[in-house]
Amino acid sequence: MMIIVMKKTATKEQIEALLRRIKRWGFETHLSTGDNKTVIGIIGKGETLQERAFLAFDGVENVMQVNKPYKLVSREFHPEKTIIDVKGTKIGGKNIVIMAGPCSVENRDTVMEIAKAVSSRGAAILRGGAFKPRTSPYSFQGLGEEGLKILRQAADENNMSVITEVMDARYLELIGKYTDIFQIGARNMANFTLLKEVGKSKLPVMLKRGMSSTLQEFLLAAEYIMSEGNESVILCERGIRTFEQYTRNTLDLAIVPAIKELSHLPIIVDPSHATGRKYLVAPMALAAIASGADGIMVEVHTSPSEALSDGAQALLPDDFGKMMSSVDIIAKAVDRTV
Ligand code: PEP
Ligand code: MN
Repeated sequence: MMIIVMKKTATKEQIEALLRRIKRWGFETHLSTGDNKTVIGIIGKGETLQERAFLAFDGVENVMQVNKPYKLVSREFHPEKTIIDVKGTKIGGKNIVIMAGPCSVENRDTVMEIAKAVSSRGAAILRGGAFKPRTSPYSFQGLGEEGLKILRQAADENNMSVITEVMDARYLELIGKYTDIFQIGARNMANFTLLKEVGKSKLPVMLKRGMSSTLQEFLLAAEYIMSEGNESVILCERGIRTFEQYTRNTLDLAIVPAIKELSHLPIIVDPSHATGRKYLVAPMALAAIASGADGIMVEVHTSPSEALSDGAQALLPDDFGKMMSSVDIIAKAVDRTV
């Protein structure tokens, strides 16, 4: 990919003239319009283009090649960080975003109770699975559309937004009617057909890191979504598989500042699936924020012992409240707000 950085003073007409010319040459363009700068990315056989040829155009400041395998997700293409606005909640800005809720949507009363509990303690986004990616086909698979309706109602009644997992492109349209953010689960991070489909959607997508994926594979999965036109991608570190067995996964927190360095996309940390143990959730949530995460996603249940999935890692509302008080202190220490 070749990148053309436009001058701050470049006019709309100059940018459009350049875009028209590049298209006429048969190349695909991606435009990144920041507060400061407009950057044009040229995809395709961009290598064969001469950098110098573009310097002659009015309004062009600089031309360079991006030699990384991921392009649109890279800092080079988009120097300013991406801030995604979900009904007024800004993900990737100064404010730390809290996503909380049950692992799965089990029944209306429980979800209503949990939504109220987490919202009153500072969560802006309600999580909950209606279509569950279970390891065993005999485990609870989720309530489907009924679950989506419950989630929507619980969020609306508490002035929250909804995030829920989409496991299959066939359900995108249905889930899109109820959710504000599509979640792509760890097991589907490399489901490229699904990634392309959510890439065509207008809704933000939170992409969870595959349990055995490298940082580069993770960013390339995000590139799949962006390359289809969806710029609202949120990354989520949820632990990777290592030889350690005590924790459910190994939380790779170094990836948070690494992603900040390499990409402009926001990153959330999920300490619940990363640890699998309730008492480890709050400490890892705090560490995540200290390391620069833009938010956390945690599982909360009013009666963890009766939960149909992931009870062992669910926080009680009061534990969640205590964690939130500490989140506040750590956020201030790293110049963030909650
Ligand atoms: C989830 O967040 O509901 C979930 C299934 O997590 P993961 O995809 O990270 O395992
Ligand atoms: Mn879960």
